[in-house]
Amino acid sequence: MTMTAVHLGMDDIDSPRGGCTTHFASLLVEELTELGASWLDYPNLIRLNPNIPYRTRGNGAVTLRFELEASDVDQVLPRSNLLLKKYLKEDYPNTNPGMVIATGDVPVDLLGFSKLALWRTVPVALARRLVARLALPYIAIGNRRGLIGALSAIGNPLRQDHTYEYIAYRSIELTSRERGVDVDSVFKMNQKYGNRLFSNIDGSAQKILIEPHGPDPVIYGIRGETPLDVIKAADLIQSKQDKERWMVFRTNQGTGAHLVHRVRLSDIRPYMAAVVEGEVATKSKIIEGGHVIFKITDGPTNAECAVYEPTGEFREIATMLIEGDKVSLDVGVRPASRMHGLTLNVEGLRILQLTDEVILVNPICPHCLKRMKSAGKEKGFKCIKCGFKDPQAKKTEIPVERQLKAGRYLPPPRAQRHLTRPMNRMDRRNNGIPNNLVDEWHDP
Ligand code: ATP
Repeated sequence: MTMTAVHLGMDDIDSPRGGCTTHFASLLVEELTELGASWLDYPNLIRLNPNIPYRTRGNGAVTLRFELEASDVDQVLPRSNLLLKKYLKEDYPNTNPGMVIATGDVPVDLLGFSKLALWRTVPVALARRLVARLALPYIAIGNRRGLIGALSAIGNPLRQDHTYEYIAYRSIELTSRERGVDVDSVFKMNQKYGNRLFSNIDGSAQKILIEPHGPDPVIYGIRGETPLDVIKAADLIQSKQDKERWMVFRTNQGTGAHLVHRVRLSDIRPYMAAVVEGEVATKSKIIEGGHVIFKITDGPTNAECAVYEPTGEFREIATMLIEGDKVSLDVGVRPASRMHGLTLNVEGLRILQLTDEVILVNPICPHCLKRMKSAGKEKGFKCIKCGFKDPQAKKTEIPVERQLKAGRYLPPPRAQRHLTRPMNRMDRRNNGIPNNLVDEWHDP
């Protein structure tokens, strides 16, 4: 019996009843297990560039990696296609599903493609050329955009830092009902597991972050460091709706993988995810809606930066920056529109160096040691008490203690991206592909 390694990537699988790609993947795991798949990895949930305009939610794609008897490999795509047709049920115009198969080692070209899709927009034509050149079997519906995510998911084997998410699903027939996740149970879980989990609650807002709000089959998702952490933690969660199925995904969430490119301001392009470095060029102002706007410069180029209202207390950091402060910003690039120029949406910030802040005060009278008054425009200063005049006197600078400290700042968890490396993962890395999987990583 010869076994072949198969990588089955998929993306953009929505259904009129509110399906989602990860849910479809969980059904496919069941189907392929029946076909004899021996699982090489947990399903990989790969988040891609969070700034692209086409995404519906978190721009996630999935790949399944398994071994199968070589003679059965040809059945994978037709069976997946049947399941897909059943899942979509009817022509659904808003979705452009894509599925791709690669066998053996992950093709090198896909590694590069996937890296690009993490921080740039990739044209569909490039994806189509790639599947043609590598002769990869695929399914693509609608405008074929789903191929981009499907290829990118295959092309990211998560060899470096990765995390896990346990996703609990309800029946797809019940997606209009209230999920009813019990808030206390989530806080208790978080308390018990501490740093083994991340981004499941927002402490400052006392909010839970595990429950989505749309009409999709996900009841909740728990993010953590190992499969057993998230599986055990999920045991503590109570919800009104019953779990119909659950599955553990290995993911690039919480790894900051989209922010690895340092880009000069002159090279910034729409929808990029980039790290830019510069000096604050103008102090911030608050505009309608509570957004904070300021400018930075890296010498030849200036750029407008925005810290949006939903980032809450993170805005205060931006309002305390002054001209000359050196900063490194994690940004998503919003293209120019009729209302505003190209804008860098700030999703993380590192203060590299704080400039000295001074206030200017009137000089002191050398005779009576009182502060003098202005003697008129460009006429120096005079002392009200003794009448001393000094036409040459200038205001004096007094240093002010800065309220900010150099270092890393992030929006609160509720305003972070799936890919954001959160504070409690700053020094943590889970490297390498798991050698074997825990016994039970999905049900059914
Ligand atoms: P869901 O949770 O339902 O999967 P989503 O937010 O993940 O929603 P998708 O429905 O997957 O969004 O839509 C994203 C689309 O954008 C997919 O078709 C995907 O192939 C495509 N895409 C992903 N990354 C890029 C990129 N960097 N450049 C261009 N297109 C991309």
